[in-house]
Amino acid sequence: MLVSNGSGSHESRRRPLPYGRQTIEDDDVAAVANALRSEWLTTGPMVDAFESAFAQWVGCREAVAVNSGTAALHAAVAALGLRSGDEVIVPALTFVASANCALYVGARPVFADVDPSTLLLDPSEIVRRRTSRTRAVITVDYAGQPCDYDAIREIAGDLAVIADSCHAPGARYRGRSVGTLADISTFSLHPVKHFTTGEGGIAATDNPELARRMRVFRNHGIASSHREREERVTWWYEMVDLGFNYRLTDFQCALGMSQLGKIDEWINARRRIARMYDERLASVRGVQPLGVRPEVSHAYHLYVVRLTDEYGVPRDLAFRRLREAGIGVNVHYIPVHLHPYYRTRLDTREGQCPVAERLYREILSLPIFPAMNEDDIDRVVDMLRRIPGS
Ligand SMILES: *Cc1c(COP(=O)(O)O)cnc(C)c1O
Repeated sequence: MLVSNGSGSHESRRRPLPYGRQTIEDDDVAAVANALRSEWLTTGPMVDAFESAFAQWVGCREAVAVNSGTAALHAAVAALGLRSGDEVIVPALTFVASANCALYVGARPVFADVDPSTLLLDPSEIVRRRTSRTRAVITVDYAGQPCDYDAIREIAGDLAVIADSCHAPGARYRGRSVGTLADISTFSLHPVKHFTTGEGGIAATDNPELARRMRVFRNHGIASSHREREERVTWWYEMVDLGFNYRLTDFQCALGMSQLGKIDEWINARRRIARMYDERLASVRGVQPLGVRPEVSHAYHLYVVRLTDEYGVPRDLAFRRLREAGIGVNVHYIPVHLHPYYRTRLDTREGQCPVAERLYREILSLPIFPAMNEDDIDRVVDMLRRIPGS
């Protein structure tokens, strides 16, 4: 049994600590219950209300709600007209969905390496990986830190830029809000992210035509919704494109609205937790938090550290020890090009993105979520400090 010698009650030391966790309060439950008692279960007034509220919060013109962050990425590549034969540059160190969306429309993801300090797409890689077929760059605001969008836009020139901002709602780059920095920015509303609708996603854009295409895309490629037809007393509809059923329900949008009202407070809590980790980890040898650039305001979906050689314990062993102690650490991510599907179908292999491959072996995501308290943070840091000596 572990002997506790730090602060915190015995109870809080034994409680399993996940790496991320949603916050659902009574007012969230009431908002969903109200929506369930209303006339519309699926596409109804709450969808519009949620989209408008999110767009206003981000400071973009349009937001399109869909039923997952992955669907938002799919809608984005479809709206931008990407198709078979096109290439899309995407960082290797991300969740598979960032790259899979290119495959959904027959395009080819081309993997780019990341900056060793921030693990964000290295803008110079766009030059290196670009060919005559390249049509777009997908950026990933890894862990919640915005990419260097000015550099990326300048280097990308006429390429479309899709921001996979699933980690970064509320983050800022040179004072500008994430959601306004790319042609389309996508967000996930999965429970482990900043705010949730159960499953869900939302795409932000300043371009009304791209928003219109994404709305058609989420509804089978049909140009009007059931509710619009009811209001106009018509049964007539036309399918103008091949779309999907990616609609988000009204009661999920009610949950999203309720959660959105609290997101600023939750992001502040995440920033406070990150600051406490920063302070405490400064004295732990070989545990190195990722770099944060001065021109950004970080949203901290993840708090990622590198366990360097100086730590003396391999990441996988440290991972096991922390999990045995009830601390829900995780690894984000296996570089996408190393997954079997990509190796066999796209002929990707080790050595293509050496920085991502090397750092993947060192990274560990520590627990971070708004309801974490100082005892929880001390418990994680104490354990990290003790592992090398035990
Ligand atoms: C969560 C996530 C997604 C996918 O979102 P879902 O809502 O789970 O479909 C895509 N990209 C990144 C970087 C993510 O973290």
